[in-house]
This record gives sequence, C-alpha cells and structure tokens, in this order.
Amino acid sequence: MGTLAQRLEQGAHNALVVGSIPSCPNKLRLQKFPTWYNNAMRHPTQKEPIYGNCIILAPDGQMLCRCDIKKAKWYLSRDLASLEIENPLTVKLKFEPKGRGAADDPYYLAEKANRCVVCGREDGLTKHHAVPYFFRKMFPPIIKNHSSHDVVPVCHECHAAYEVESQKLRMQIAEEMGYTPQPKYKKSRNDMIAPKLAFALKHHGNKMPEVRKNELIAKLTAVLGHNPTEDEIHSLCRTTTKKYSHPEVIGWIAGVTEAVINMTEPELHAFCKRWRQHFISVMKPKYMLQHWDVNHMRKEWTDPVAREKWESNFKKGHNEASEIN
Ligand SMILES: [Zn+2]
Repeated sequence: MGTLAQRLEQGAHNALVVGSIPSCPNKLRLQKFPTWYNNAMRHPTQKEPIYGNCIILAPDGQMLCRCDIKKAKWYLSRDLASLEIENPLTVKLKFEPKGRGAADDPYYLAEKANRCVVCGREDGLTKHHAVPYFFRKMFPPIIKNHSSHDVVPVCHECHAAYEVESQKLRMQIAEEMGYTPQPKYKKSRNDMIAPKLAFALKHHGNKMPEVRKNELIAKLTAVLGHNPTEDEIHSLCRTTTKKYSHPEVIGWIAGVTEAVINMTEPELHAFCKRWRQHFISVMKPKYMLQHWDVNHMRKEWTDPVAREKWESNFKKGHNEASEIN
C-alpha cells in the first residue's frame, strides 16, 4: 500500500482524475475527496504499535495490567521490577502498588491486536477516540483519566469515513441541547481580515501612531458591525485566519460546552455509551477488541470504596490508577 504520504498523494491524484477516492476497505465510502484528505491528515499514524502487550505483575504474581514496552523497561531500568518472561515482556513489581488498577477488568488484561478494529488492516493505524475530544476534554478527571477503553485502533480510511458520521451526531446532540446546528459560514473577505486587524491592535496598538490605531479600530468596527470590546479583540486574536469562526459559531461552541460541563455523572456515562454505540452501529467493526463493551463502567465509577481511594490518590497527586493504565 505504500506510506501514508504515498497513499494520500495517490488519493489526491485519483480524486482529481476520476472524481472518486481510492478503494476503502469499509463499505462506507466518502462522497468527497477533500474531507477524506483533510481528515486523514488530522489523525497522525502511530509510529509505534498502539498496544505493546507487555505485562505488569504485582509482587504476589497477580496480573495488574498490560503496558507498552517503554513502561515495562522503565520499571526494569530503575530496579522497581524484575524480569519474569521475555516474550511477551513480563515484569514483576518489587513494591506494592497504591492500587491494583484494573486487575479485575478483563478488557485491560486481554492481549490486543494492532489492527484496524473495523477492517482489520494493520498499517496506517490511528487512534480513534469513541467520545470526541471536543466533549471529552470537559469531563471530570475521574472519567477523563480512565478513557483508554474508548481509544481503539482504526486505519486512516475508516477513521475518515467515521468522521463524516460523527459530525452528524455532534450536530444532533447540540440540537437536543437546544442549540441549532452549527451554522456554516462561507468565509467572506471580512472574516479573513478581522483576526488580522485584532492581532495588529492587540500586539502593536500601543506602538503605532494614534491615527493609524484609530484607522484600524474603524476598519474592525466596520467588519464586525459594532465597536469591538477588549475581550472581543483578544478572542479574535486567538483564532488564526484559517480557523476564524464567525462570532455565532463561537457562541454555539460556548453553549454546548456549558451543557456538557453541567451534565451529571450518570448523564456523562449515558453520553459515552451513546457515542460507543454510534461507532458500532455505523462502522460495524469486524475486529473489535475482546471485552470491549458499549456499557463499559470502571470500578472507580461504581464502587464507592474504589472511588474514594482513587480520589484520595488523585488529590495527593499520586494517581497510581491512571499511571498504571
Ligand atoms: Zn480500517
């Protein structure tokens, strides 16, 4: 198949010549080349295998979790663990860990294949987050820090194909939250100019002659349709010309963000479940990881004792649970 760069180049060529995308192993095909191309470029191919499948044992021999080779070697290099088996690399801790991590969760203990869970391809793998980062970043730490279950290997083509469907669900969710679908604006010349004017004002406004400064403010006022506030100039500066969004779009994102932040924990779990189910329903993965579960719940979420322990470790900054997973 060649490298990703070669495939993308070939894809670009095919799309331009015959108006289609190169063969995708998944039945779901993309309608437009640019989306596929742009999405593929957004998901970096993993240089190292996603799963190292090394094993960490507790001092009493209980299997604690799987990890990558780097972590297993880290314990060995610091004499914190002894080498038990070379292949798969298995190390036994010489100290009692603060928690037993996910030692009783078969998903975390199972060997995981480095292949696309949808089509089975083994090259050009990316990490797919079942719950998009846009939402996940707002979750409380106890949920956010245990999200490895929701990260699965997917090849570029399948990833890009799912992105199209994922976008539709995002819009639907926002609508249910009471926000109309994210408006799409064609970038006008004014949209391109506003961030540049704001940048000039913020970073050079104090140094430029008053006449020039007033001229820029007048231009920005004309573009926005009102006198820009300090905050507005500041927020416009943070958007590059490429990423510039219309103020209404920024408002939409703020509204959805607030709605997610205000979700209760049961609502968040249901939210995650919905995204997992969506991925399964849309992509129909043939090689889903063993014990991966749409209804997945961590012990720390359901067991008050495990939760208290996790919170205590988290507060101390010694979050062994997340360290071990
Ligand atoms: Zn695939």
